[in-house]
Amino acid sequence: MSTGCVIGVDLGGTKLLAGAVDPALNVHHRATRSSRGDDQAALLHTVVGAIREVRDAIEGASGTVEAVGIGIPCLIDAERGMAVTSTHLPLLDVPFRDLMAERLGLPVFVDNDANAAMVAEWRFGAAMGARDAALLTLGTGIGGGLVVGGALQRGSQGAGAELGHMVVQADGPRCNGNCPNRGCLEAMCSGTALAREASRIARERPSSALGHALADGREILGPLVTELAFDGDVAAIDAIALCGSWLGIGIANLVNMLNPDVVVVGGGVIAAGELLLGPARAVVAARALSPSREHVKIVAARFGAESGMLGAAALALDGIGAPA
Ligand SMILES: [Zn+2]
Repeated sequence: MSTGCVIGVDLGGTKLLAGAVDPALNVHHRATRSSRGDDQAALLHTVVGAIREVRDAIEGASGTVEAVGIGIPCLIDAERGMAVTSTHLPLLDVPFRDLMAERLGLPVFVDNDANAAMVAEWRFGAAMGARDAALLTLGTGIGGGLVVGGALQRGSQGAGAELGHMVVQADGPRCNGNCPNRGCLEAMCSGTALAREASRIARERPSSALGHALADGREILGPLVTELAFDGDVAAIDAIALCGSWLGIGIANLVNMLNPDVVVVGGGVIAAGELLLGPARAVVAARALSPSREHVKIVAARFGAESGMLGAAALALDGIGAPA
C-alpha cells in the first residue's frame, strides 16, 4: 500500500496512548506516557515526546508517518484546532493543532477524545451499522459520544454529548475536575469512582483479598480491583458490580432518551468485562422503558481501551485523504 502510517494519540486525563496505525487500522508501534499532574507546558512536551518515539520506531524500520490525529478530553473548536477548555487537563484556549504541527512538521488533526472513540467504534467496531448509538468511556473520568440518525452529535458549540455528566444521584459525591456538579455518572462509575468505592469496601471487609491488598499498602486502583475480581475475590467483584449498577442507571436514561440500537462501553474500566456489564444490563432491564430496553445492545468496545487512539488515527487518515 502506498500510503504510510499515521499516528493516533489518545490523551487521557492521567495517561496517554500513541500508536502508529496503517490504513487497514493495524497498529504497528505503541507508546504510553503518564500525564498525571503535568502543567500545560509539560503536557505538550509529553505529547510531542510520545509521538516522536512512535515516529522514530516507524522510520527506523523504513516506514513513513504522514499525519497525526489527537483525541483530547476537551471542548474542541474544530475550525481553529483549539483546545478551548477541559475538565481534567490544564488546557485553556490552546491552539493545539497548530502548536503540534509546528513542533512535529506534520499535518495534525484534533478532536474530542470520546468523539474519536465513538467514530472508531461506529465505523469499525461494536456500533458498526448502527443508526443510533451512544458510547461511554470509563477512565479517569467518563467521556461520551453520540450518534443520532446516522450522524455524530457535537451540540451547538461542540460541547455536547458529555454523557458522563448526567446526574444519577442528586446528592451524590462531588464530581471531578472543573465540573461543579454532584452525583454525575462520572462521580459514580469512572475508574476514579471504582477506586474510591473499592477502597471503602476494602476498609469494611479487611479479611477479603481487597482488604489484604489495602493492609499491604497497595494502592487500590481499577486494574488491581479487576485482577482480584477475576481471581474470585467477592469484595472486588462487589465493588465492580456497584459501579456496574450505577452505569446501568446512566444507560437506562440514555435508552429512554435516545432509543439507541447499541450502547458501547469502553475505557480502561471495561477490562472488567461482564463483571461490569452484567449488573448494568440487569439495571437497564429493570428500569428502562419497553420496547427500547429489549432493543438496545449493551456491549464492550471492540477496541477496548484503544478506541480513542484508533479514532484519532482515523481522523488523521481522513484528513490526508486516505480513509481507513
Ligand atoms: Zn460532572
